[in-house]
This record gives sequence, structure tokens and C-alpha cells, in this order.
Amino acid sequence: MSVTVATLGFPRIGPRRELKTALEAYWSGNAKVEALLDVAAGLRAQTWKRQHDLGADIIPSNDFSLYDHVLDTTAMVGAVPAIYGWKSDQVGIETYFAMARGSRAGAAEESSCGCGHDHGPAAKGAPAAEMTKWFDTNYHYLVPEFTAEQNFRLASTKALDQYLEAKALGIETRPVLLGPVTYLLIGKAKGGDFDPLTLLPRLLPVYVEVLQSLARAGARWVQIDEPSLVTDLSDAARAAFGEAYDKLSRAAIGLRVMLTTYFGALDDNLDTALSLPVHGLHVDLVRAPEQLAPVLAGARPDLVLSLGVIDGRNVWKADLNAILDRVEPVLAAGREVILAPSCSLLHTPIDLDRETAMEPEVKDWLAFAVQKIAELATLAKALNGGRAGVKAVLDAATASVASRRTSPRINDPAVQARAAKQDPALARRSSAFDVRRGVQREKLKLPSYPTTTIGSFPQTSEIRKARADHDRGILDNAAYETFLREQTALTVRWQEDVGLDVLVHGEFERNDMVQYFGERLSGFVFTKYAWVQSYGSRCVRPPIIYGDVARPEPMTVEWWRYAQSLTKRPMKGMLTGPVTILNWSFVRDDQPRATTCRQIAFAIRDEVVDLEKAGAAIIQIDEAALREGLPLRKSEWSTYLDWAVESFRVTASGVADATQIHTHMCYSEFNDIIASIGAMDADVISIETARSKMELLDAFAGYRYPAEIGPGVYDIHSPRVPAVGEMTELLTAAAGRLPADQLWVNPDCGLKTRKWPEVRLAIENMVSAARAARA
Ligand code: GLN
Ligand code: ZN
Repeated sequence: MSVTVATLGFPRIGPRRELKTALEAYWSGNAKVEALLDVAAGLRAQTWKRQHDLGADIIPSNDFSLYDHVLDTTAMVGAVPAIYGWKSDQVGIETYFAMARGSRAGAAEESSCGCGHDHGPAAKGAPAAEMTKWFDTNYHYLVPEFTAEQNFRLASTKALDQYLEAKALGIETRPVLLGPVTYLLIGKAKGGDFDPLTLLPRLLPVYVEVLQSLARAGARWVQIDEPSLVTDLSDAARAAFGEAYDKLSRAAIGLRVMLTTYFGALDDNLDTALSLPVHGLHVDLVRAPEQLAPVLAGARPDLVLSLGVIDGRNVWKADLNAILDRVEPVLAAGREVILAPSCSLLHTPIDLDRETAMEPEVKDWLAFAVQKIAELATLAKALNGGRAGVKAVLDAATASVASRRTSPRINDPAVQARAAKQDPALARRSSAFDVRRGVQREKLKLPSYPTTTIGSFPQTSEIRKARADHDRGILDNAAYETFLREQTALTVRWQEDVGLDVLVHGEFERNDMVQYFGERLSGFVFTKYAWVQSYGSRCVRPPIIYGDVARPEPMTVEWWRYAQSLTKRPMKGMLTGPVTILNWSFVRDDQPRATTCRQIAFAIRDEVVDLEKAGAAIIQIDEAALREGLPLRKSEWSTYLDWAVESFRVTASGVADATQIHTHMCYSEFNDIIASIGAMDADVISIETARSKMELLDAFAGYRYPAEIGPGVYDIHSPRVPAVGEMTELLTAAAGRLPADQLWVNPDCGLKTRKWPEVRLAIENMVSAARAARA
């Protein structure tokens, strides 16, 4: 039996982000819907053909989405929340985008703060559906919302349409559906008092209808994604899988189901997965190589196994010979085997060949979506016809992997030695917090309820234009620098005038809070075109950490020095923390993430120390993405949190007691990680709370969090200017939960996505609210 190659999904945004351009033109009213749909169809056709040409035997359809595949599923099953006033037979494009972006499109574009969350337009009209991270990726999906009376009906034929569309182009595809159990598990109950899983019996008939329509159209296989099978499941959820797949297998006559799991090991859900009446099972052998043996031991002899051997979540070239060594014994047992990426290629950039400016040595270590499919094709050739036929390609891959191991570009012995040193004193401030607090109060002499901001001020179109002109060489370094200094000076003066106590320089010189540092650290490489979808039309170009990380020279000290020279008030040094840099990058896979994080920690520590030397009394180390890095399995949380917190402490512990270390986290769930937040031992933490009415401070109060806290009183995701009274109320609520002398007054997050007129009024009101609280 010959081995075949499958892909589970391909990036949708297009090699030149064609989909983004088309979506934004349509949203802004500059293009008709037909133009958008034409671009989308063109991308699908191109993607199918490309995968075919690269050697994929099993090509997915319905993996394409105009915005999000979870939203597509919501449309498919007609689960449109009442607020969108949907009454038609099918979910049309307007309803679809209303759920994605709110019914007053346009406003939503302003609301991302870079914290990875989009909070929808705040103005009148129906708000966008809530958005959250897709498992442990940086892709965001629209959260399905169910009522207890929820009914489902087939309301989008997209799966069938796109199957037929490919067929008409001469390409037989395997349609992809998000599985019914995962769909319910990642949704939320409106009202919150029932379990969405109880809706399964009502949901399944819609899936049956879809499967039957695909079978009638001639589809032979369907890929059903159930990534929740790699997470901690309740008994009820496990039972739901049994119920769902019994029903689907009985109904879908003639259509074979490839049950697809990814992002981790099946582990304690393995028996459940293996007991389901499906024809095939896909397992992630990149994240969980160790599950191959138990899967083989437990799988029915006729179960087709799809082995996820190429990393769909990262950018490294694979060691093909090593993969062959693992797969050959599986074939010897006579089972039907498919080779595939570990998960959909949605999470990788499209084509490495476009990176013509990249250092050839580094480029040789990488593989993006296109290259990964070619790797799979090579593996299949070797398995079907012997390694000799593709020897040159296999040898080249082995040589690339070996060169990545030994290259001086990657190996910096001094960095390795420093990170290997396990001296607890490196991760400990000299004195405990209560001692530090005394010294810092003496030095800073701040009023009670001190006011500050999180760091960035509006990135105006003027600033964006100057940056673009500078990148293109139209604006020379000196002129750009002068411009940035002016912006900084204006912002410092304004902060003094409005009466803020602790100032910031505004971060105008920074394109992005990770990229700015990555560009100044060794061991990082940046791409020109390697965009990855974050949500909807938004894409990010994550830095690639390929080698040992060092800081050749100070990165922020001159900007800080300049800003501090403009004022007598304390100017915060402003840095991005190691955990956040790690979690928002593609990370090398040849050493533990913890090790890479520790290296970054030492690099940022040097910057902290240099800022202190330059005179900074307050230094903020942002850890916006600390929570995002939590593993899918609860049993792995403490290991992650331990090294993440340790890295933060290494970063923060090189300074004297009198230097005040702040951290910032832009989210609002702390209950389950509060002990780790405490263990970070920051002197001040600012968090997002404006919309939760300070309830989340209960976690801090319950834990008796000893240090100072700035609970956000200004929701920066909205253009709305909060009134003084509202913020006073929030401060009163905060003071009801924590001692007033622990509290700071600040917005939820940075102000870079806001406009100056809103910011001026809101911060003025915030300062008034703080004064009222003092009085
Ligand atoms: N200092 C950063 C800023 O203000 C923090 C951003 C963030 O937490 N996402 O922009
Ligand atoms: Zn933030």
C-alpha cells in the first residue's frame, strides 16, 4: 500500500495578503462584494493547484475562510445570536461580517491594542462577537454563543459549494469541518447556567445533513477536526464524542471520516479517540512524538493513520531522514498510512522563496507552508520508492539540520554559559518587597493614588508615515530621529501639563513591542513577507528566534535619557519582558523553550541594569503574553509558570532596592495564576480591569497580594471617553477590595491605537479621578 500525502489546511490570506486587501476594500465601501468573492475564489483555486503541484495527494477544501473557520461553522449551523437580527434562510455576508466586526463596521478596526484581543466596536449597533485564542496558537476565533433554547439548522452550504468548486477545477478534495464536540466546547453559554454540550443532539442533525450532501456530491473522505481531544476533558465530553461519532458514522453512508487531532497528545483521551467508529485518525507527532507507540498499539488494524510528522506550527526545516526512521517501522505492519503536517498550515507563513533578502545560511534552516508540503512529498517518495531515489534531497535536509546545530551564528558560548548558571541569587531582589517599598517611597515621594500610563501614546498617521518613509529611505536617519524627538518632547510636556505623576516617553520609535527588541538582539531574524493570520484581515510577522540571544548594546537607554532630560518627574524605562518576546515569536526547536526564555531574560536584564545606571528610578517590564503561553493541559501549567516567572525575575533582579520594577499584563483573568503573579515579585503591576468593574481584584485580595497594583480605569479598546465619576467609582470599588495605599491609577493598556482627542480628555478625567480619590 503506498503512502500518501495530505495537507490539513493552508493559509488563507494569500501570498501577498490579497485577501486582506480585498476584505478591507470591501469593508471600507471601496469595492463591491463580487470583487471580494472573486479574489477569494482566485486564492482557493491557486491554493488547490499549488498543493497538487507540490505533491499533495489529499487536498483540503472548506479550509478557506473569509474571516474565521469557527465563524464559518456558526454560519453553517445557523447559530447566529439574536442581537444580529438574522431572519433569512442562509447566513449572508452582511450577517457574517456583523458577527465578525460588529454591525457598524469600521469601528472594529480601531480596537486592537496589540494584546492579542479585539474587543469590537464600542459604539452603538451590535458589537462583534467575542474573540479569543484558538487553543495555544496566536490565531483568534470568534467565540460561538449559545442560549439554552438554541436551535440549529443548515444555514450555509459553504462546505459543499467549495467541494464542488474544486471538483469543477478538476481537483478532488477532502472537505474540512470543525467537529461538533469541539465546536460546542469552545463556545460559551449565554446566561452561563447550562452546558453547551447538552445541545449536541440538536446540533448533530445539521452535521448529518452536511455530510450527506458531501457524500451525494461524490466526496469520499471528510476531515473532521476535533482538537479538543488533546485537552483535559470531562467524562461528559468524552461521552459526547461517542454519541456524536456514532450518529455521524451511521448517517454518512459512503463517506469516510478522518478524525483529526492536533496541538498535543491524546493522552487520557486516546481510548476515547480509538473507540470512535471513524475510518481514520490524525495525530500530532511533532508536539507529541511519544504518542506514536500507544496509538499504534491501540488502533484497529483497519484504522487509517494520518501521521503529523512535519511541524505545522513552526518554521524549521525537518530532518527528513530522522522522520523516515520513525515511519518505516509503522509501514512494515501493513497499515494504511498518510503523512501530513502536524496541524493545518494556517499557522505558518506561506513561501520562504519570497524572502530574497534573508541571510542564505539562516534561510537554509527554514521551511514555510510551501516548503513543508514539498518535504512531505519527499518523505512519501522515499517511503514508496526507497530513499535512494531522493537521496540528494534527504542529504541536503540532514546537512541543513546539522549546520543549524553547529553554526557559530547560533552558538554563543558566553550566552549559553550564562543561561546555564543556576544561581538563585540571580533571580532574587536584594530585599523583600516591604523593605523595597520603604526605600522606594522615600526616593520617589509620590502622592497616594499615583497616576501613570502604560507606555505608548497615539501612533498617529503622521508617525506611521514618517516610519514608512524612513523604511523606504525617503526620510534619512537624522530627520526621522528629529521627528521622533519632537513627538516625544510634545508628549512629555503634555503629560506634565495634565498632571500625571509618573511619565513615559510614548514609544514613538517602536514599530511593535516585540519587533523593536528583536531587531536589536542577536539570534533573531525578521522576514519581509512571512505574514501569519492573527484574526480576520489582521496578520502578524513574528520574529524568528534561531540562535543564542544576546544584547550587543543598549536598546532603549538613549530614548529614556532624552525623555528624562525633559522633565523632573520620574520617567519610566519601558521594556518588553522575556516571556512575551518568546510567546510572540517563532522559537527555535533545538533546545527547550525555557532555555531560550532564560537567554532573553539575561539580555533584557542587562538593559534593566543599564537603565538604572543611566538614572531610571522606575522600569516597567511588560509581560502582556505571559498568560497566553499556558499549556493546553493543566498538568503542565506549573512547569511553564515556574520557568516563565523565573525568567521574569532574572530580568528584574539586577537592580537596587530603590529601583521600582513595574510589570504590565493586558488581560483580566488572574484567579488561576495569582500565585505565579505574586511570585514575579514586581513592585507594581498594572492590569486590565475597566470593564470588569474591579471584580477581578478579588483574586488579588484573596491572595493578599502584597505589592502595588494599577487596575485599569480607562477601557482603551473603546473610543469612548470615560467620565470622572465613572473612574472615581472604579477607584472606590478597587479601594473596597485592596488597601488604598496599594493602588495606582492608570488606563488598561497602552494608548497607541487611540486618537489624541480621546486620550487628552480621558487622561484629564483620570487625573481628576485620582485627585478626588486622594481628597
Ligand atoms: N508598553 C506597551 C504599550 O503601552 C504595552 C502594550 C501591551 O501590553 N500590549 O503599548
Ligand atoms: Zn496591555
